[in-house]
Amino acid sequence: MGTRHEQPGQTPLEPELFGRRFYLHLAAGAFCLLALTAGLAFLETKVPAAAAPSIIQVTGATTPSATARLGSQHGRGGLPLPSLVTRSIQVGEGDTLMALLVSAGAAPEDASEAVQALAAIYNPRSLKVGQQITVTFAAEDGDYDTQRLVDVTVSADVDRKVLASRMLSPDDSFSGQEQRQELTPGLSRFSGFIDDSLFEAAGRAGLPPAVTAELIRLYSFDVDFQRDIHPGDTFEVKVERWFDGDGRPAKDGAITYASLTLSGVTHQLWRFQPPKGEIDYFDSAGSSVRKALLKTPIDGARITSGFGMRQHPLLGYTKMHKGLDFGASTGTPIMAAGDGSVAFAGDKGTYGRYVQLKHPAGFATAYAHMSRIAVKRGQSVRQGQIIGYVGTTGRSTGPHLHYEVLAGDKQVNPAGLKLPTGHKLAGAELASFQAARLAIDTAPTQTPVVTAVRETDR
Ligand SMILES: [Zn+2]
Repeated sequence: MGTRHEQPGQTPLEPELFGRRFYLHLAAGAFCLLALTAGLAFLETKVPAAAAPSIIQVTGATTPSATARLGSQHGRGGLPLPSLVTRSIQVGEGDTLMALLVSAGAAPEDASEAVQALAAIYNPRSLKVGQQITVTFAAEDGDYDTQRLVDVTVSADVDRKVLASRMLSPDDSFSGQEQRQELTPGLSRFSGFIDDSLFEAAGRAGLPPAVTAELIRLYSFDVDFQRDIHPGDTFEVKVERWFDGDGRPAKDGAITYASLTLSGVTHQLWRFQPPKGEIDYFDSAGSSVRKALLKTPIDGARITSGFGMRQHPLLGYTKMHKGLDFGASTGTPIMAAGDGSVAFAGDKGTYGRYVQLKHPAGFATAYAHMSRIAVKRGQSVRQGQIIGYVGTTGRSTGPHLHYEVLAGDKQVNPAGLKLPTGHKLAGAELASFQAARLAIDTAPTQTPVVTAVRETDR
């Protein structure tokens, strides 16, 4: 994700900071300035950026506005002018701020001064892989050997930058400053056709993977992600999103609305916090999407697409096969379909590694062929808790979860199971939900432009 500081022609410095004193100081001080002719290309080819593996892009530029100001202030007097060159660095594995600055071209003593100035407002040890750092050098034209570090800006957070700058200081030392950025909240809308899996279709529409995972989790109460998704099905999602000053997405929030149309049937849900309850998702009638059992008791994002997969039979519930199979790679987390306790956990003949959970209301669920079991007999489990991992133990042709629902000791078809719905809003709560729902439905949304590259070998 870019920041405004990567744009050529801009530096992290406020125009007001380009004070006369600084430039006079530069001119008179530590290094000898030569005549100015914009030598950008020359500078860029000479700067030994390739020596630093962490530098992924070099966006050097003289700053037109700065040059103009300099021209007006010093040009007449014949004083030489510095060129400003700005570079963006991305933090890599094991990088330290000090080492990054030096590899970007800063003199070690300058880098050390800058780090010290930053340390007062930012812990350099909290640098993370992928974080953006912008460095600005003042260089005499054509004499890159004398380039001098004048500014270091670290994107500490999506809405916070810290900078150490010589230009803020009248005495040529670095001084630290914090810049907060106001983020603007918005609502982004993503939609598309599902022609393989929801996870992949959502990814192509630009939905971040973490949001897609949440979307799938929300629908796992109602949707069997192995059998209910078909080519031509569609989805729509609205997600809270904050934008930076340049209108670029800075961070994502919660899903406020989602809709899945599966085989012509539309399943909608809205996010709502009842006045005296916790945030939850409700359908148009005000019923919580939560059910006593998950329909997909596995990480739905990792289910092998039902209509693309040929390795497993992916059997439905029949007289011969009294369970449902979910195809997923070995190690995919398996979740407790509902709250309950572990009635069995261990090897069970053709079932391989097997867990059975007892739930209130007299039914049980069973999970077979696991590669690893993550619970012990007698233990209580919560709905969604990981109880084991997909494998192919016992009589199995490939990694998958064999899932059964039992009433008494008899397997029953999970698809035909009548489950009590969760919390249902009524009265004032329902009215408040309907108002919130209308607000979500009518709020302006922004649809990200996605330049998706489709795999051609599918
Ligand atoms: Zn099976």
